[in-house]
Amino acid sequence: MTEPIMQSLVDLTIDWNEITEQATSLLCDYIRINTTNPPGGEEAGAIFLREALRREGIDSTFYDAGGGRVSMSARVPAAVNRGLKPIVLLSHIDVVPVEPEHWKVDPFSGAIIENVIWGRGALDMKGMGIMELLCIALARRHSIPLERDLVFVAVADEEAGGLYGIHHLAEHHPEVLQAEYVFNEGAYGFSEFMGREARIVGICPSEKSPCWLRVSAKGLPGHASVPHDKNALVKLVKGLARLDAWEKRIELTPAVDGMLRTLAQKGFVPADLDPRDSATLSMLASMDAHLGAVTHDTVSITSVHAGQKINVIPAAAEATVDCRLLPTTDPRAFVAEVRRVIDDPDVEVEVLYQHDSGMSSMDTPVMSIAAQVVREKLGDDAFLMPQLSPGFTDSHAYRAAGAQAYGFTPALLTREELSTIHGHNERLSIANLRLGTEVLFEVVRRLACRA
Ligand SMILES: [Zn+2]
Repeated sequence: MTEPIMQSLVDLTIDWNEITEQATSLLCDYIRINTTNPPGGEEAGAIFLREALRREGIDSTFYDAGGGRVSMSARVPAAVNRGLKPIVLLSHIDVVPVEPEHWKVDPFSGAIIENVIWGRGALDMKGMGIMELLCIALARRHSIPLERDLVFVAVADEEAGGLYGIHHLAEHHPEVLQAEYVFNEGAYGFSEFMGREARIVGICPSEKSPCWLRVSAKGLPGHASVPHDKNALVKLVKGLARLDAWEKRIELTPAVDGMLRTLAQKGFVPADLDPRDSATLSMLASMDAHLGAVTHDTVSITSVHAGQKINVIPAAAEATVDCRLLPTTDPRAFVAEVRRVIDDPDVEVEVLYQHDSGMSSMDTPVMSIAAQVVREKLGDDAFLMPQLSPGFTDSHAYRAAGAQAYGFTPALLTREELSTIHGHNERLSIANLRLGTEVLFEVVRRLACRA
């Protein structure tokens, strides 16, 4: 699927076979450290990373949020300090839980089967963590003339919202969030796309913003044998039904516009279809849930709690609603709209959690260098594709601190491999580990050497 690099434009001698062996062994060992969140236990992962960096002559700093929830950073300084903000290579140490009975191998064995590394975190995101670790190690080993510092940051608790990771850093160590550019998870590459073989590397300059709501209804209790019109559960269900039926406007944000433009140019959309035309876009979005999600604010009703007993009318009922907003949507205006759509004074809407994921620029050297490196390393039919992620990552905290942050894991994955993220049988081929390390290193090297 992925082929070794055709040419190296780097005037350095890097033995990529040796680097790939090192990356493979590091990733297998890293997977073997069980950092399932909850409870996380990221300290063991951070110690492992610190030791690997120490062997490269790079020191690490730990940030302890208590209870074994440790994040860390390590820095290779610029050749000359010009006071430029650093490039951050960001990853998270924790992984999501597993259901081992559905796996073909022990999810924490780090087994290699037919040149593929198996285990929880192979993709999300210990694999990219190791690619990043090798980028910073190579920068130091080869004394790359960096114009700005290169900083490796591995955080705790990403998978549970970041309270003991990125939010802890933002509050207690805000200097770690000072960066010009950030590379993180958020976009992978595709070896097949829309049923066709492809070499597409995604890059994600923006993500949707979570807006998590509690919707609660108040009513009057009563005996179920004598129904009345103040049943809280009925009020809640009717309000939720109106919310679910709410037709939200379609909107083309810069990343999705860039994605559609690229797909049309590359012939992935029929030539007579203009996917940016709003009627066509509505039609396409109604056929594809992912496209629907990245062109609309979305509402998912995720839980309802009410009632104690079959013959008692409940006086209170509540639901949780997971809304995901386009980066151009004003959250306050959105919540006001939710209240208007529910249209019942006895139903209250409360924001449980919200942050703005922000938008990084599509017009930075990161985008142009990544596009160029992808073509050079993967061939003329390969291309970079901007994406809006429907989910969110820790990049939002860096964007809030003023950085340009990008999701960029340059591995070419099949649909099936992508489905293993947060699923069963998560795995990353050694060829993809090598490809990702080579592409990421070359992008970071060129970016870091620019004044
Ligand atoms: Zn992740």
